[in-house]
Amino acid sequence: MRSKHDLVIIGGGVGGLVTASVAGQLGLDVVLIEREKNLGGDCLHYGCVPSKTLIRSAKVAHTVDQASQFGINVNAGNADLAAVMERVQAVVSQIQQHDDPERFRSYGIDVRFGEATFYDPDTVMVDGQTIKARRFVIATGSKPMAPPIPGLESVAYLTNESVFQVRALPNRLAVIGGGPIGTELAQAFSRLGSQVTLIEGRPRLLPKDDPNLTTQLREHLENEGLSVHTNTNVSHARSHNDETILTLDRETGSEDQSFDQILVATGRRANTRSINPEAAGLHLNADGTLKVDGRLRTNQRHIYALGDCVGPYPFTHMAEYQAGIIISNAVFRLPRKVDYTTVPWVTYTDPELAHVGMTTAVANERGLHYELAAFSVADVDRAMAEGSTTGELRLLIHRGRIIGASLLAPHAGEIIHELALAISERIPLRRLASMVHAYPTLAQISKRAAGGYYAHQLFSQRTRGLVKWINRLLP
Ligand SMILES: Cc1cc2nc3c(=O)[nH]c(=O)nc-3n(C[C@H](O)[C@H](O)[C@H](O)COP(=O)(O)OP(=O)(O)OC[C@H]3O[C@@H](n4cnc5c(N)ncnc54)[C@H](O)[C@@H]3O)c2cc1C
Repeated sequence: MRSKHDLVIIGGGVGGLVTASVAGQLGLDVVLIEREKNLGGDCLHYGCVPSKTLIRSAKVAHTVDQASQFGINVNAGNADLAAVMERVQAVVSQIQQHDDPERFRSYGIDVRFGEATFYDPDTVMVDGQTIKARRFVIATGSKPMAPPIPGLESVAYLTNESVFQVRALPNRLAVIGGGPIGTELAQAFSRLGSQVTLIEGRPRLLPKDDPNLTTQLREHLENEGLSVHTNTNVSHARSHNDETILTLDRETGSEDQSFDQILVATGRRANTRSINPEAAGLHLNADGTLKVDGRLRTNQRHIYALGDCVGPYPFTHMAEYQAGIIISNAVFRLPRKVDYTTVPWVTYTDPELAHVGMTTAVANERGLHYELAAFSVADVDRAMAEGSTTGELRLLIHRGRIIGASLLAPHAGEIIHELALAISERIPLRRLASMVHAYPTLAQISKRAAGGYYAHQLFSQRTRGLVKWINRLLP
């Protein structure tokens, strides 16, 4: 047996799996260690996959509920949450097949199950066995973080790790946390029939997104029947019979509200304690993430880290992108740095809220002079046909190019990629305005917003005078 492996990867979620798969297929001697009994990590088991599958069922429920508006008479039934969650688990199991350990073993990877902890900077321990390597990749992800609410520890509350196990629909559900996870799940449960109260301590939902769009989304959610409380802190929690009573503190005063179930979605904490970072001499940031440089090397240059345990963006596509950077640096030995300028993100509410590039907050911070090109979803023909007219596209324009795009619209998560390409390739806005977009698509909103930006120039007095002059001059 070799005394040192080429690469040890800790964590079999998306970041670890992408890195292992490429390094293994390139012929490196790779060990992949996962502490759960299955590969796949948060995204597959407790994150993206179950949440998006649940959201799909919720959309069906909503469509049935709204059917009469489309001229269809149906008898709306109740959602069978047990059947919905069975479908969620079936989709997880189906996708789990891609993450079969045997597939990775067929690439020559030594897949082991157990918790890995550093013994020293060159050695990890798994189940009492030592594994030495020349290089390491830490891809240990994150876990839900519960806020310090007095009494919360004594009530039974759900997180993203347990919510997909629920089989009976709660009548009254409180969702604490108005970030992407809380907002998505709040709308999904509301559409399935729960009376949902979404509670956020900050002044608005989804604070990283465009404030105009989050306001529109909030109104939309309230119109659907959710009760949304911002600027509201939960100051106490207690159980009484089968209920949980939360004390909600607002500027106007405190109020107790009773719920059948509580879902806590108040942020994530990096899984870094479990690896015993001190033994490897690794430096952590104040929020518990690992300190890395632009090439994703920790302060121990042979130990790399990626994904949720590093940040700055806790997304599956970020872990996948960072895996590519590590492969370049640690496998091909080609120095490559991360570039986060065009990372799209999407909140999968209906309508979806998507963003890419600079936010207005960042552009203002940098003192950039930019203009805004906006176009309302209500003015897109296809949106009218679909009966889904909430939302707007907001483009930040700097020197004739898009530097940031925020979109609240049906399928915004798909449409945003055209804008991401325009930003990353520095495509002039004029080209987007003149490009042919199929009619009637929702994607036309990008062309319309770009066209609208130039409309005042096209129809200006100067252009009108010029057109008259040419037409008088020429036969
Ligand atoms: C409800 C929810 C919805 C989400 N939806 C989306 C979405 O729609 N789109 C999106 O892009 N992102 C979404 N995310 C975020 C996404 O799931 C994460 O960004 C992604 O999983 C991070 O990948 P990772 O490889 O860093 O970590 P993970 O996928 O979490 O993998 C880390 C792995 O490391 C293992 N591990 C930890 N410590 C050890 C140890 N000491 N030894 C061995 N193994 C260890 C863990 O068991 C885990 O399997 C969502 C998250 C949640 C919670």
